[in-house]
Amino acid sequence: MRHVDVVVIGAGAAGMMCAAVAAQRGRKVVLIDHAEKLAEKIRISGGGRCNFTNRRVTQENFISANPHFARSALAGYGPDDFLALIKRHGIAWHEKHRGQLFCDHSSEDIIEMLRRECDQGGVDWCMPCAVTEIVRAETNQGVEYRLATDQGPIHASNLVIATGGLAIPQLGATDFGLKVARQFGLKVIEPRPALVPLTFETSTWLPFAELSGLAIEAGISTGVGKKTQSFLEDVLFTHRGLSGPGILQISSYWQPGEPIVLDLAPGQEMAAMLIEAKSGSRQQLGTFLGTLWPKRLAEQWLGEDAAKRLADAPDRFLKDLGQRIQAWSIIPNGTAGYKKAEVMRGGVDTKGLDQRSMQAKSVQGLYFIGEVVDVTGWLGGYNFQWAWSSGVACGRSL
Ligand SMILES: Cc1cc2nc3c(=O)[nH]c(=O)nc-3n(C[C@H](O)[C@H](O)[C@H](O)COP(=O)(O)OP(=O)(O)OC[C@H]3O[C@@H](n4cnc5c(N)ncnc54)[C@H](O)[C@@H]3O)c2cc1C
Repeated sequence: MRHVDVVVIGAGAAGMMCAAVAAQRGRKVVLIDHAEKLAEKIRISGGGRCNFTNRRVTQENFISANPHFARSALAGYGPDDFLALIKRHGIAWHEKHRGQLFCDHSSEDIIEMLRRECDQGGVDWCMPCAVTEIVRAETNQGVEYRLATDQGPIHASNLVIATGGLAIPQLGATDFGLKVARQFGLKVIEPRPALVPLTFETSTWLPFAELSGLAIEAGISTGVGKKTQSFLEDVLFTHRGLSGPGILQISSYWQPGEPIVLDLAPGQEMAAMLIEAKSGSRQQLGTFLGTLWPKRLAEQWLGEDAAKRLADAPDRFLKDLGQRIQAWSIIPNGTAGYKKAEVMRGGVDTKGLDQRSMQAKSVQGLYFIGEVVDVTGWLGGYNFQWAWSSGVACGRSL
């Protein structure tokens, strides 16, 4: 039987960071993971180059039932701190659009760096290892977490849950963390796939399915009034619906049954442009729009109207068409699900956690970090930044 100060379950981004920080501060740490291979999500992230953070990180880049919760951890350990760490390890990186930072070489660099940081602190690795039971006991020496595992029992004064979200179950994602939260009476905000493609009824999508593979920049929004959220990003047509960075971003805000609204000519005054282009024009509508969009999008989107001559179209029709192009409202019938999602929205309710340490307010010695917590970042390196920040906040407080 092993007896340690801290057991961290989940050797992903948040778990390794937390274990390294706690161990380097002198804590005796065991890091458990059920996977054969270390940190698969880091490995596949950012197309194999890991978009490990973003230059500009604010609380607005995160979604949570309590939008202020992430602030303290992000302030305590931000993008510059992580950059200093990768500089120390000699990892080359570069900036892509919108402040997104990627490894020059490979995501493996980040995994190796975290592995070395853990080894430097003397973290005791336990993987692959399945935890079958967790019992909390109050002893004369204080609180003790007694874990039954297929590698034998492990007892610890502190238990950190870093088992991530439900996205990509084929890589070993489980609801373990959510179950532990419920076991100890913590509330869970309903989990949902996020940063995920959106799908449409087959009949609605039939005319657009042929556009599969086509991408254009669009304005995308959802929600009403103060709750409207918008992005200006690329949108990709697929056989079943829409994907691409703009759709992934809006998917995290989309509520089932609600429409998403696309502006297919961002920054233009389409109605005025169409009416102005009409005079003296011999062009068909499809040909005219084909100068702004890929030709097959113009033809497919306009349908029968593609053959209409611009000069013959009444101003009212063109005004209405311009408005439809800039506010194309469509209702998804769902998402492509956890198999295709990058992250899980929802998770352990932050109301039950201390924002400085990530400790459960009502359960001494129990901590939740990373994606299992109800803090979901935008696309662009924000989810890893949350994993680093929450991992460090917890590691420092242990
Ligand atoms: C395809 C893809 C690309 C992504 N790209 C990016 C990107 O470029 N930038 C970005 O910021 N974010 C990206 N993300 C999101 C990012 O990977 C996650 O938000 C991040 O890894 C969460 O860190 P975590 O430590 O909380 O969980 P994870 O990194 O998922 O780690 C959780 C660990 O817990 C283990 N585990 C799960 N259940 C159990 C159990 N029952 N027992 C023991 N161990 C268990 C898992 O094996 C895993 O090792 C991407 C996600 C995907 C799916």
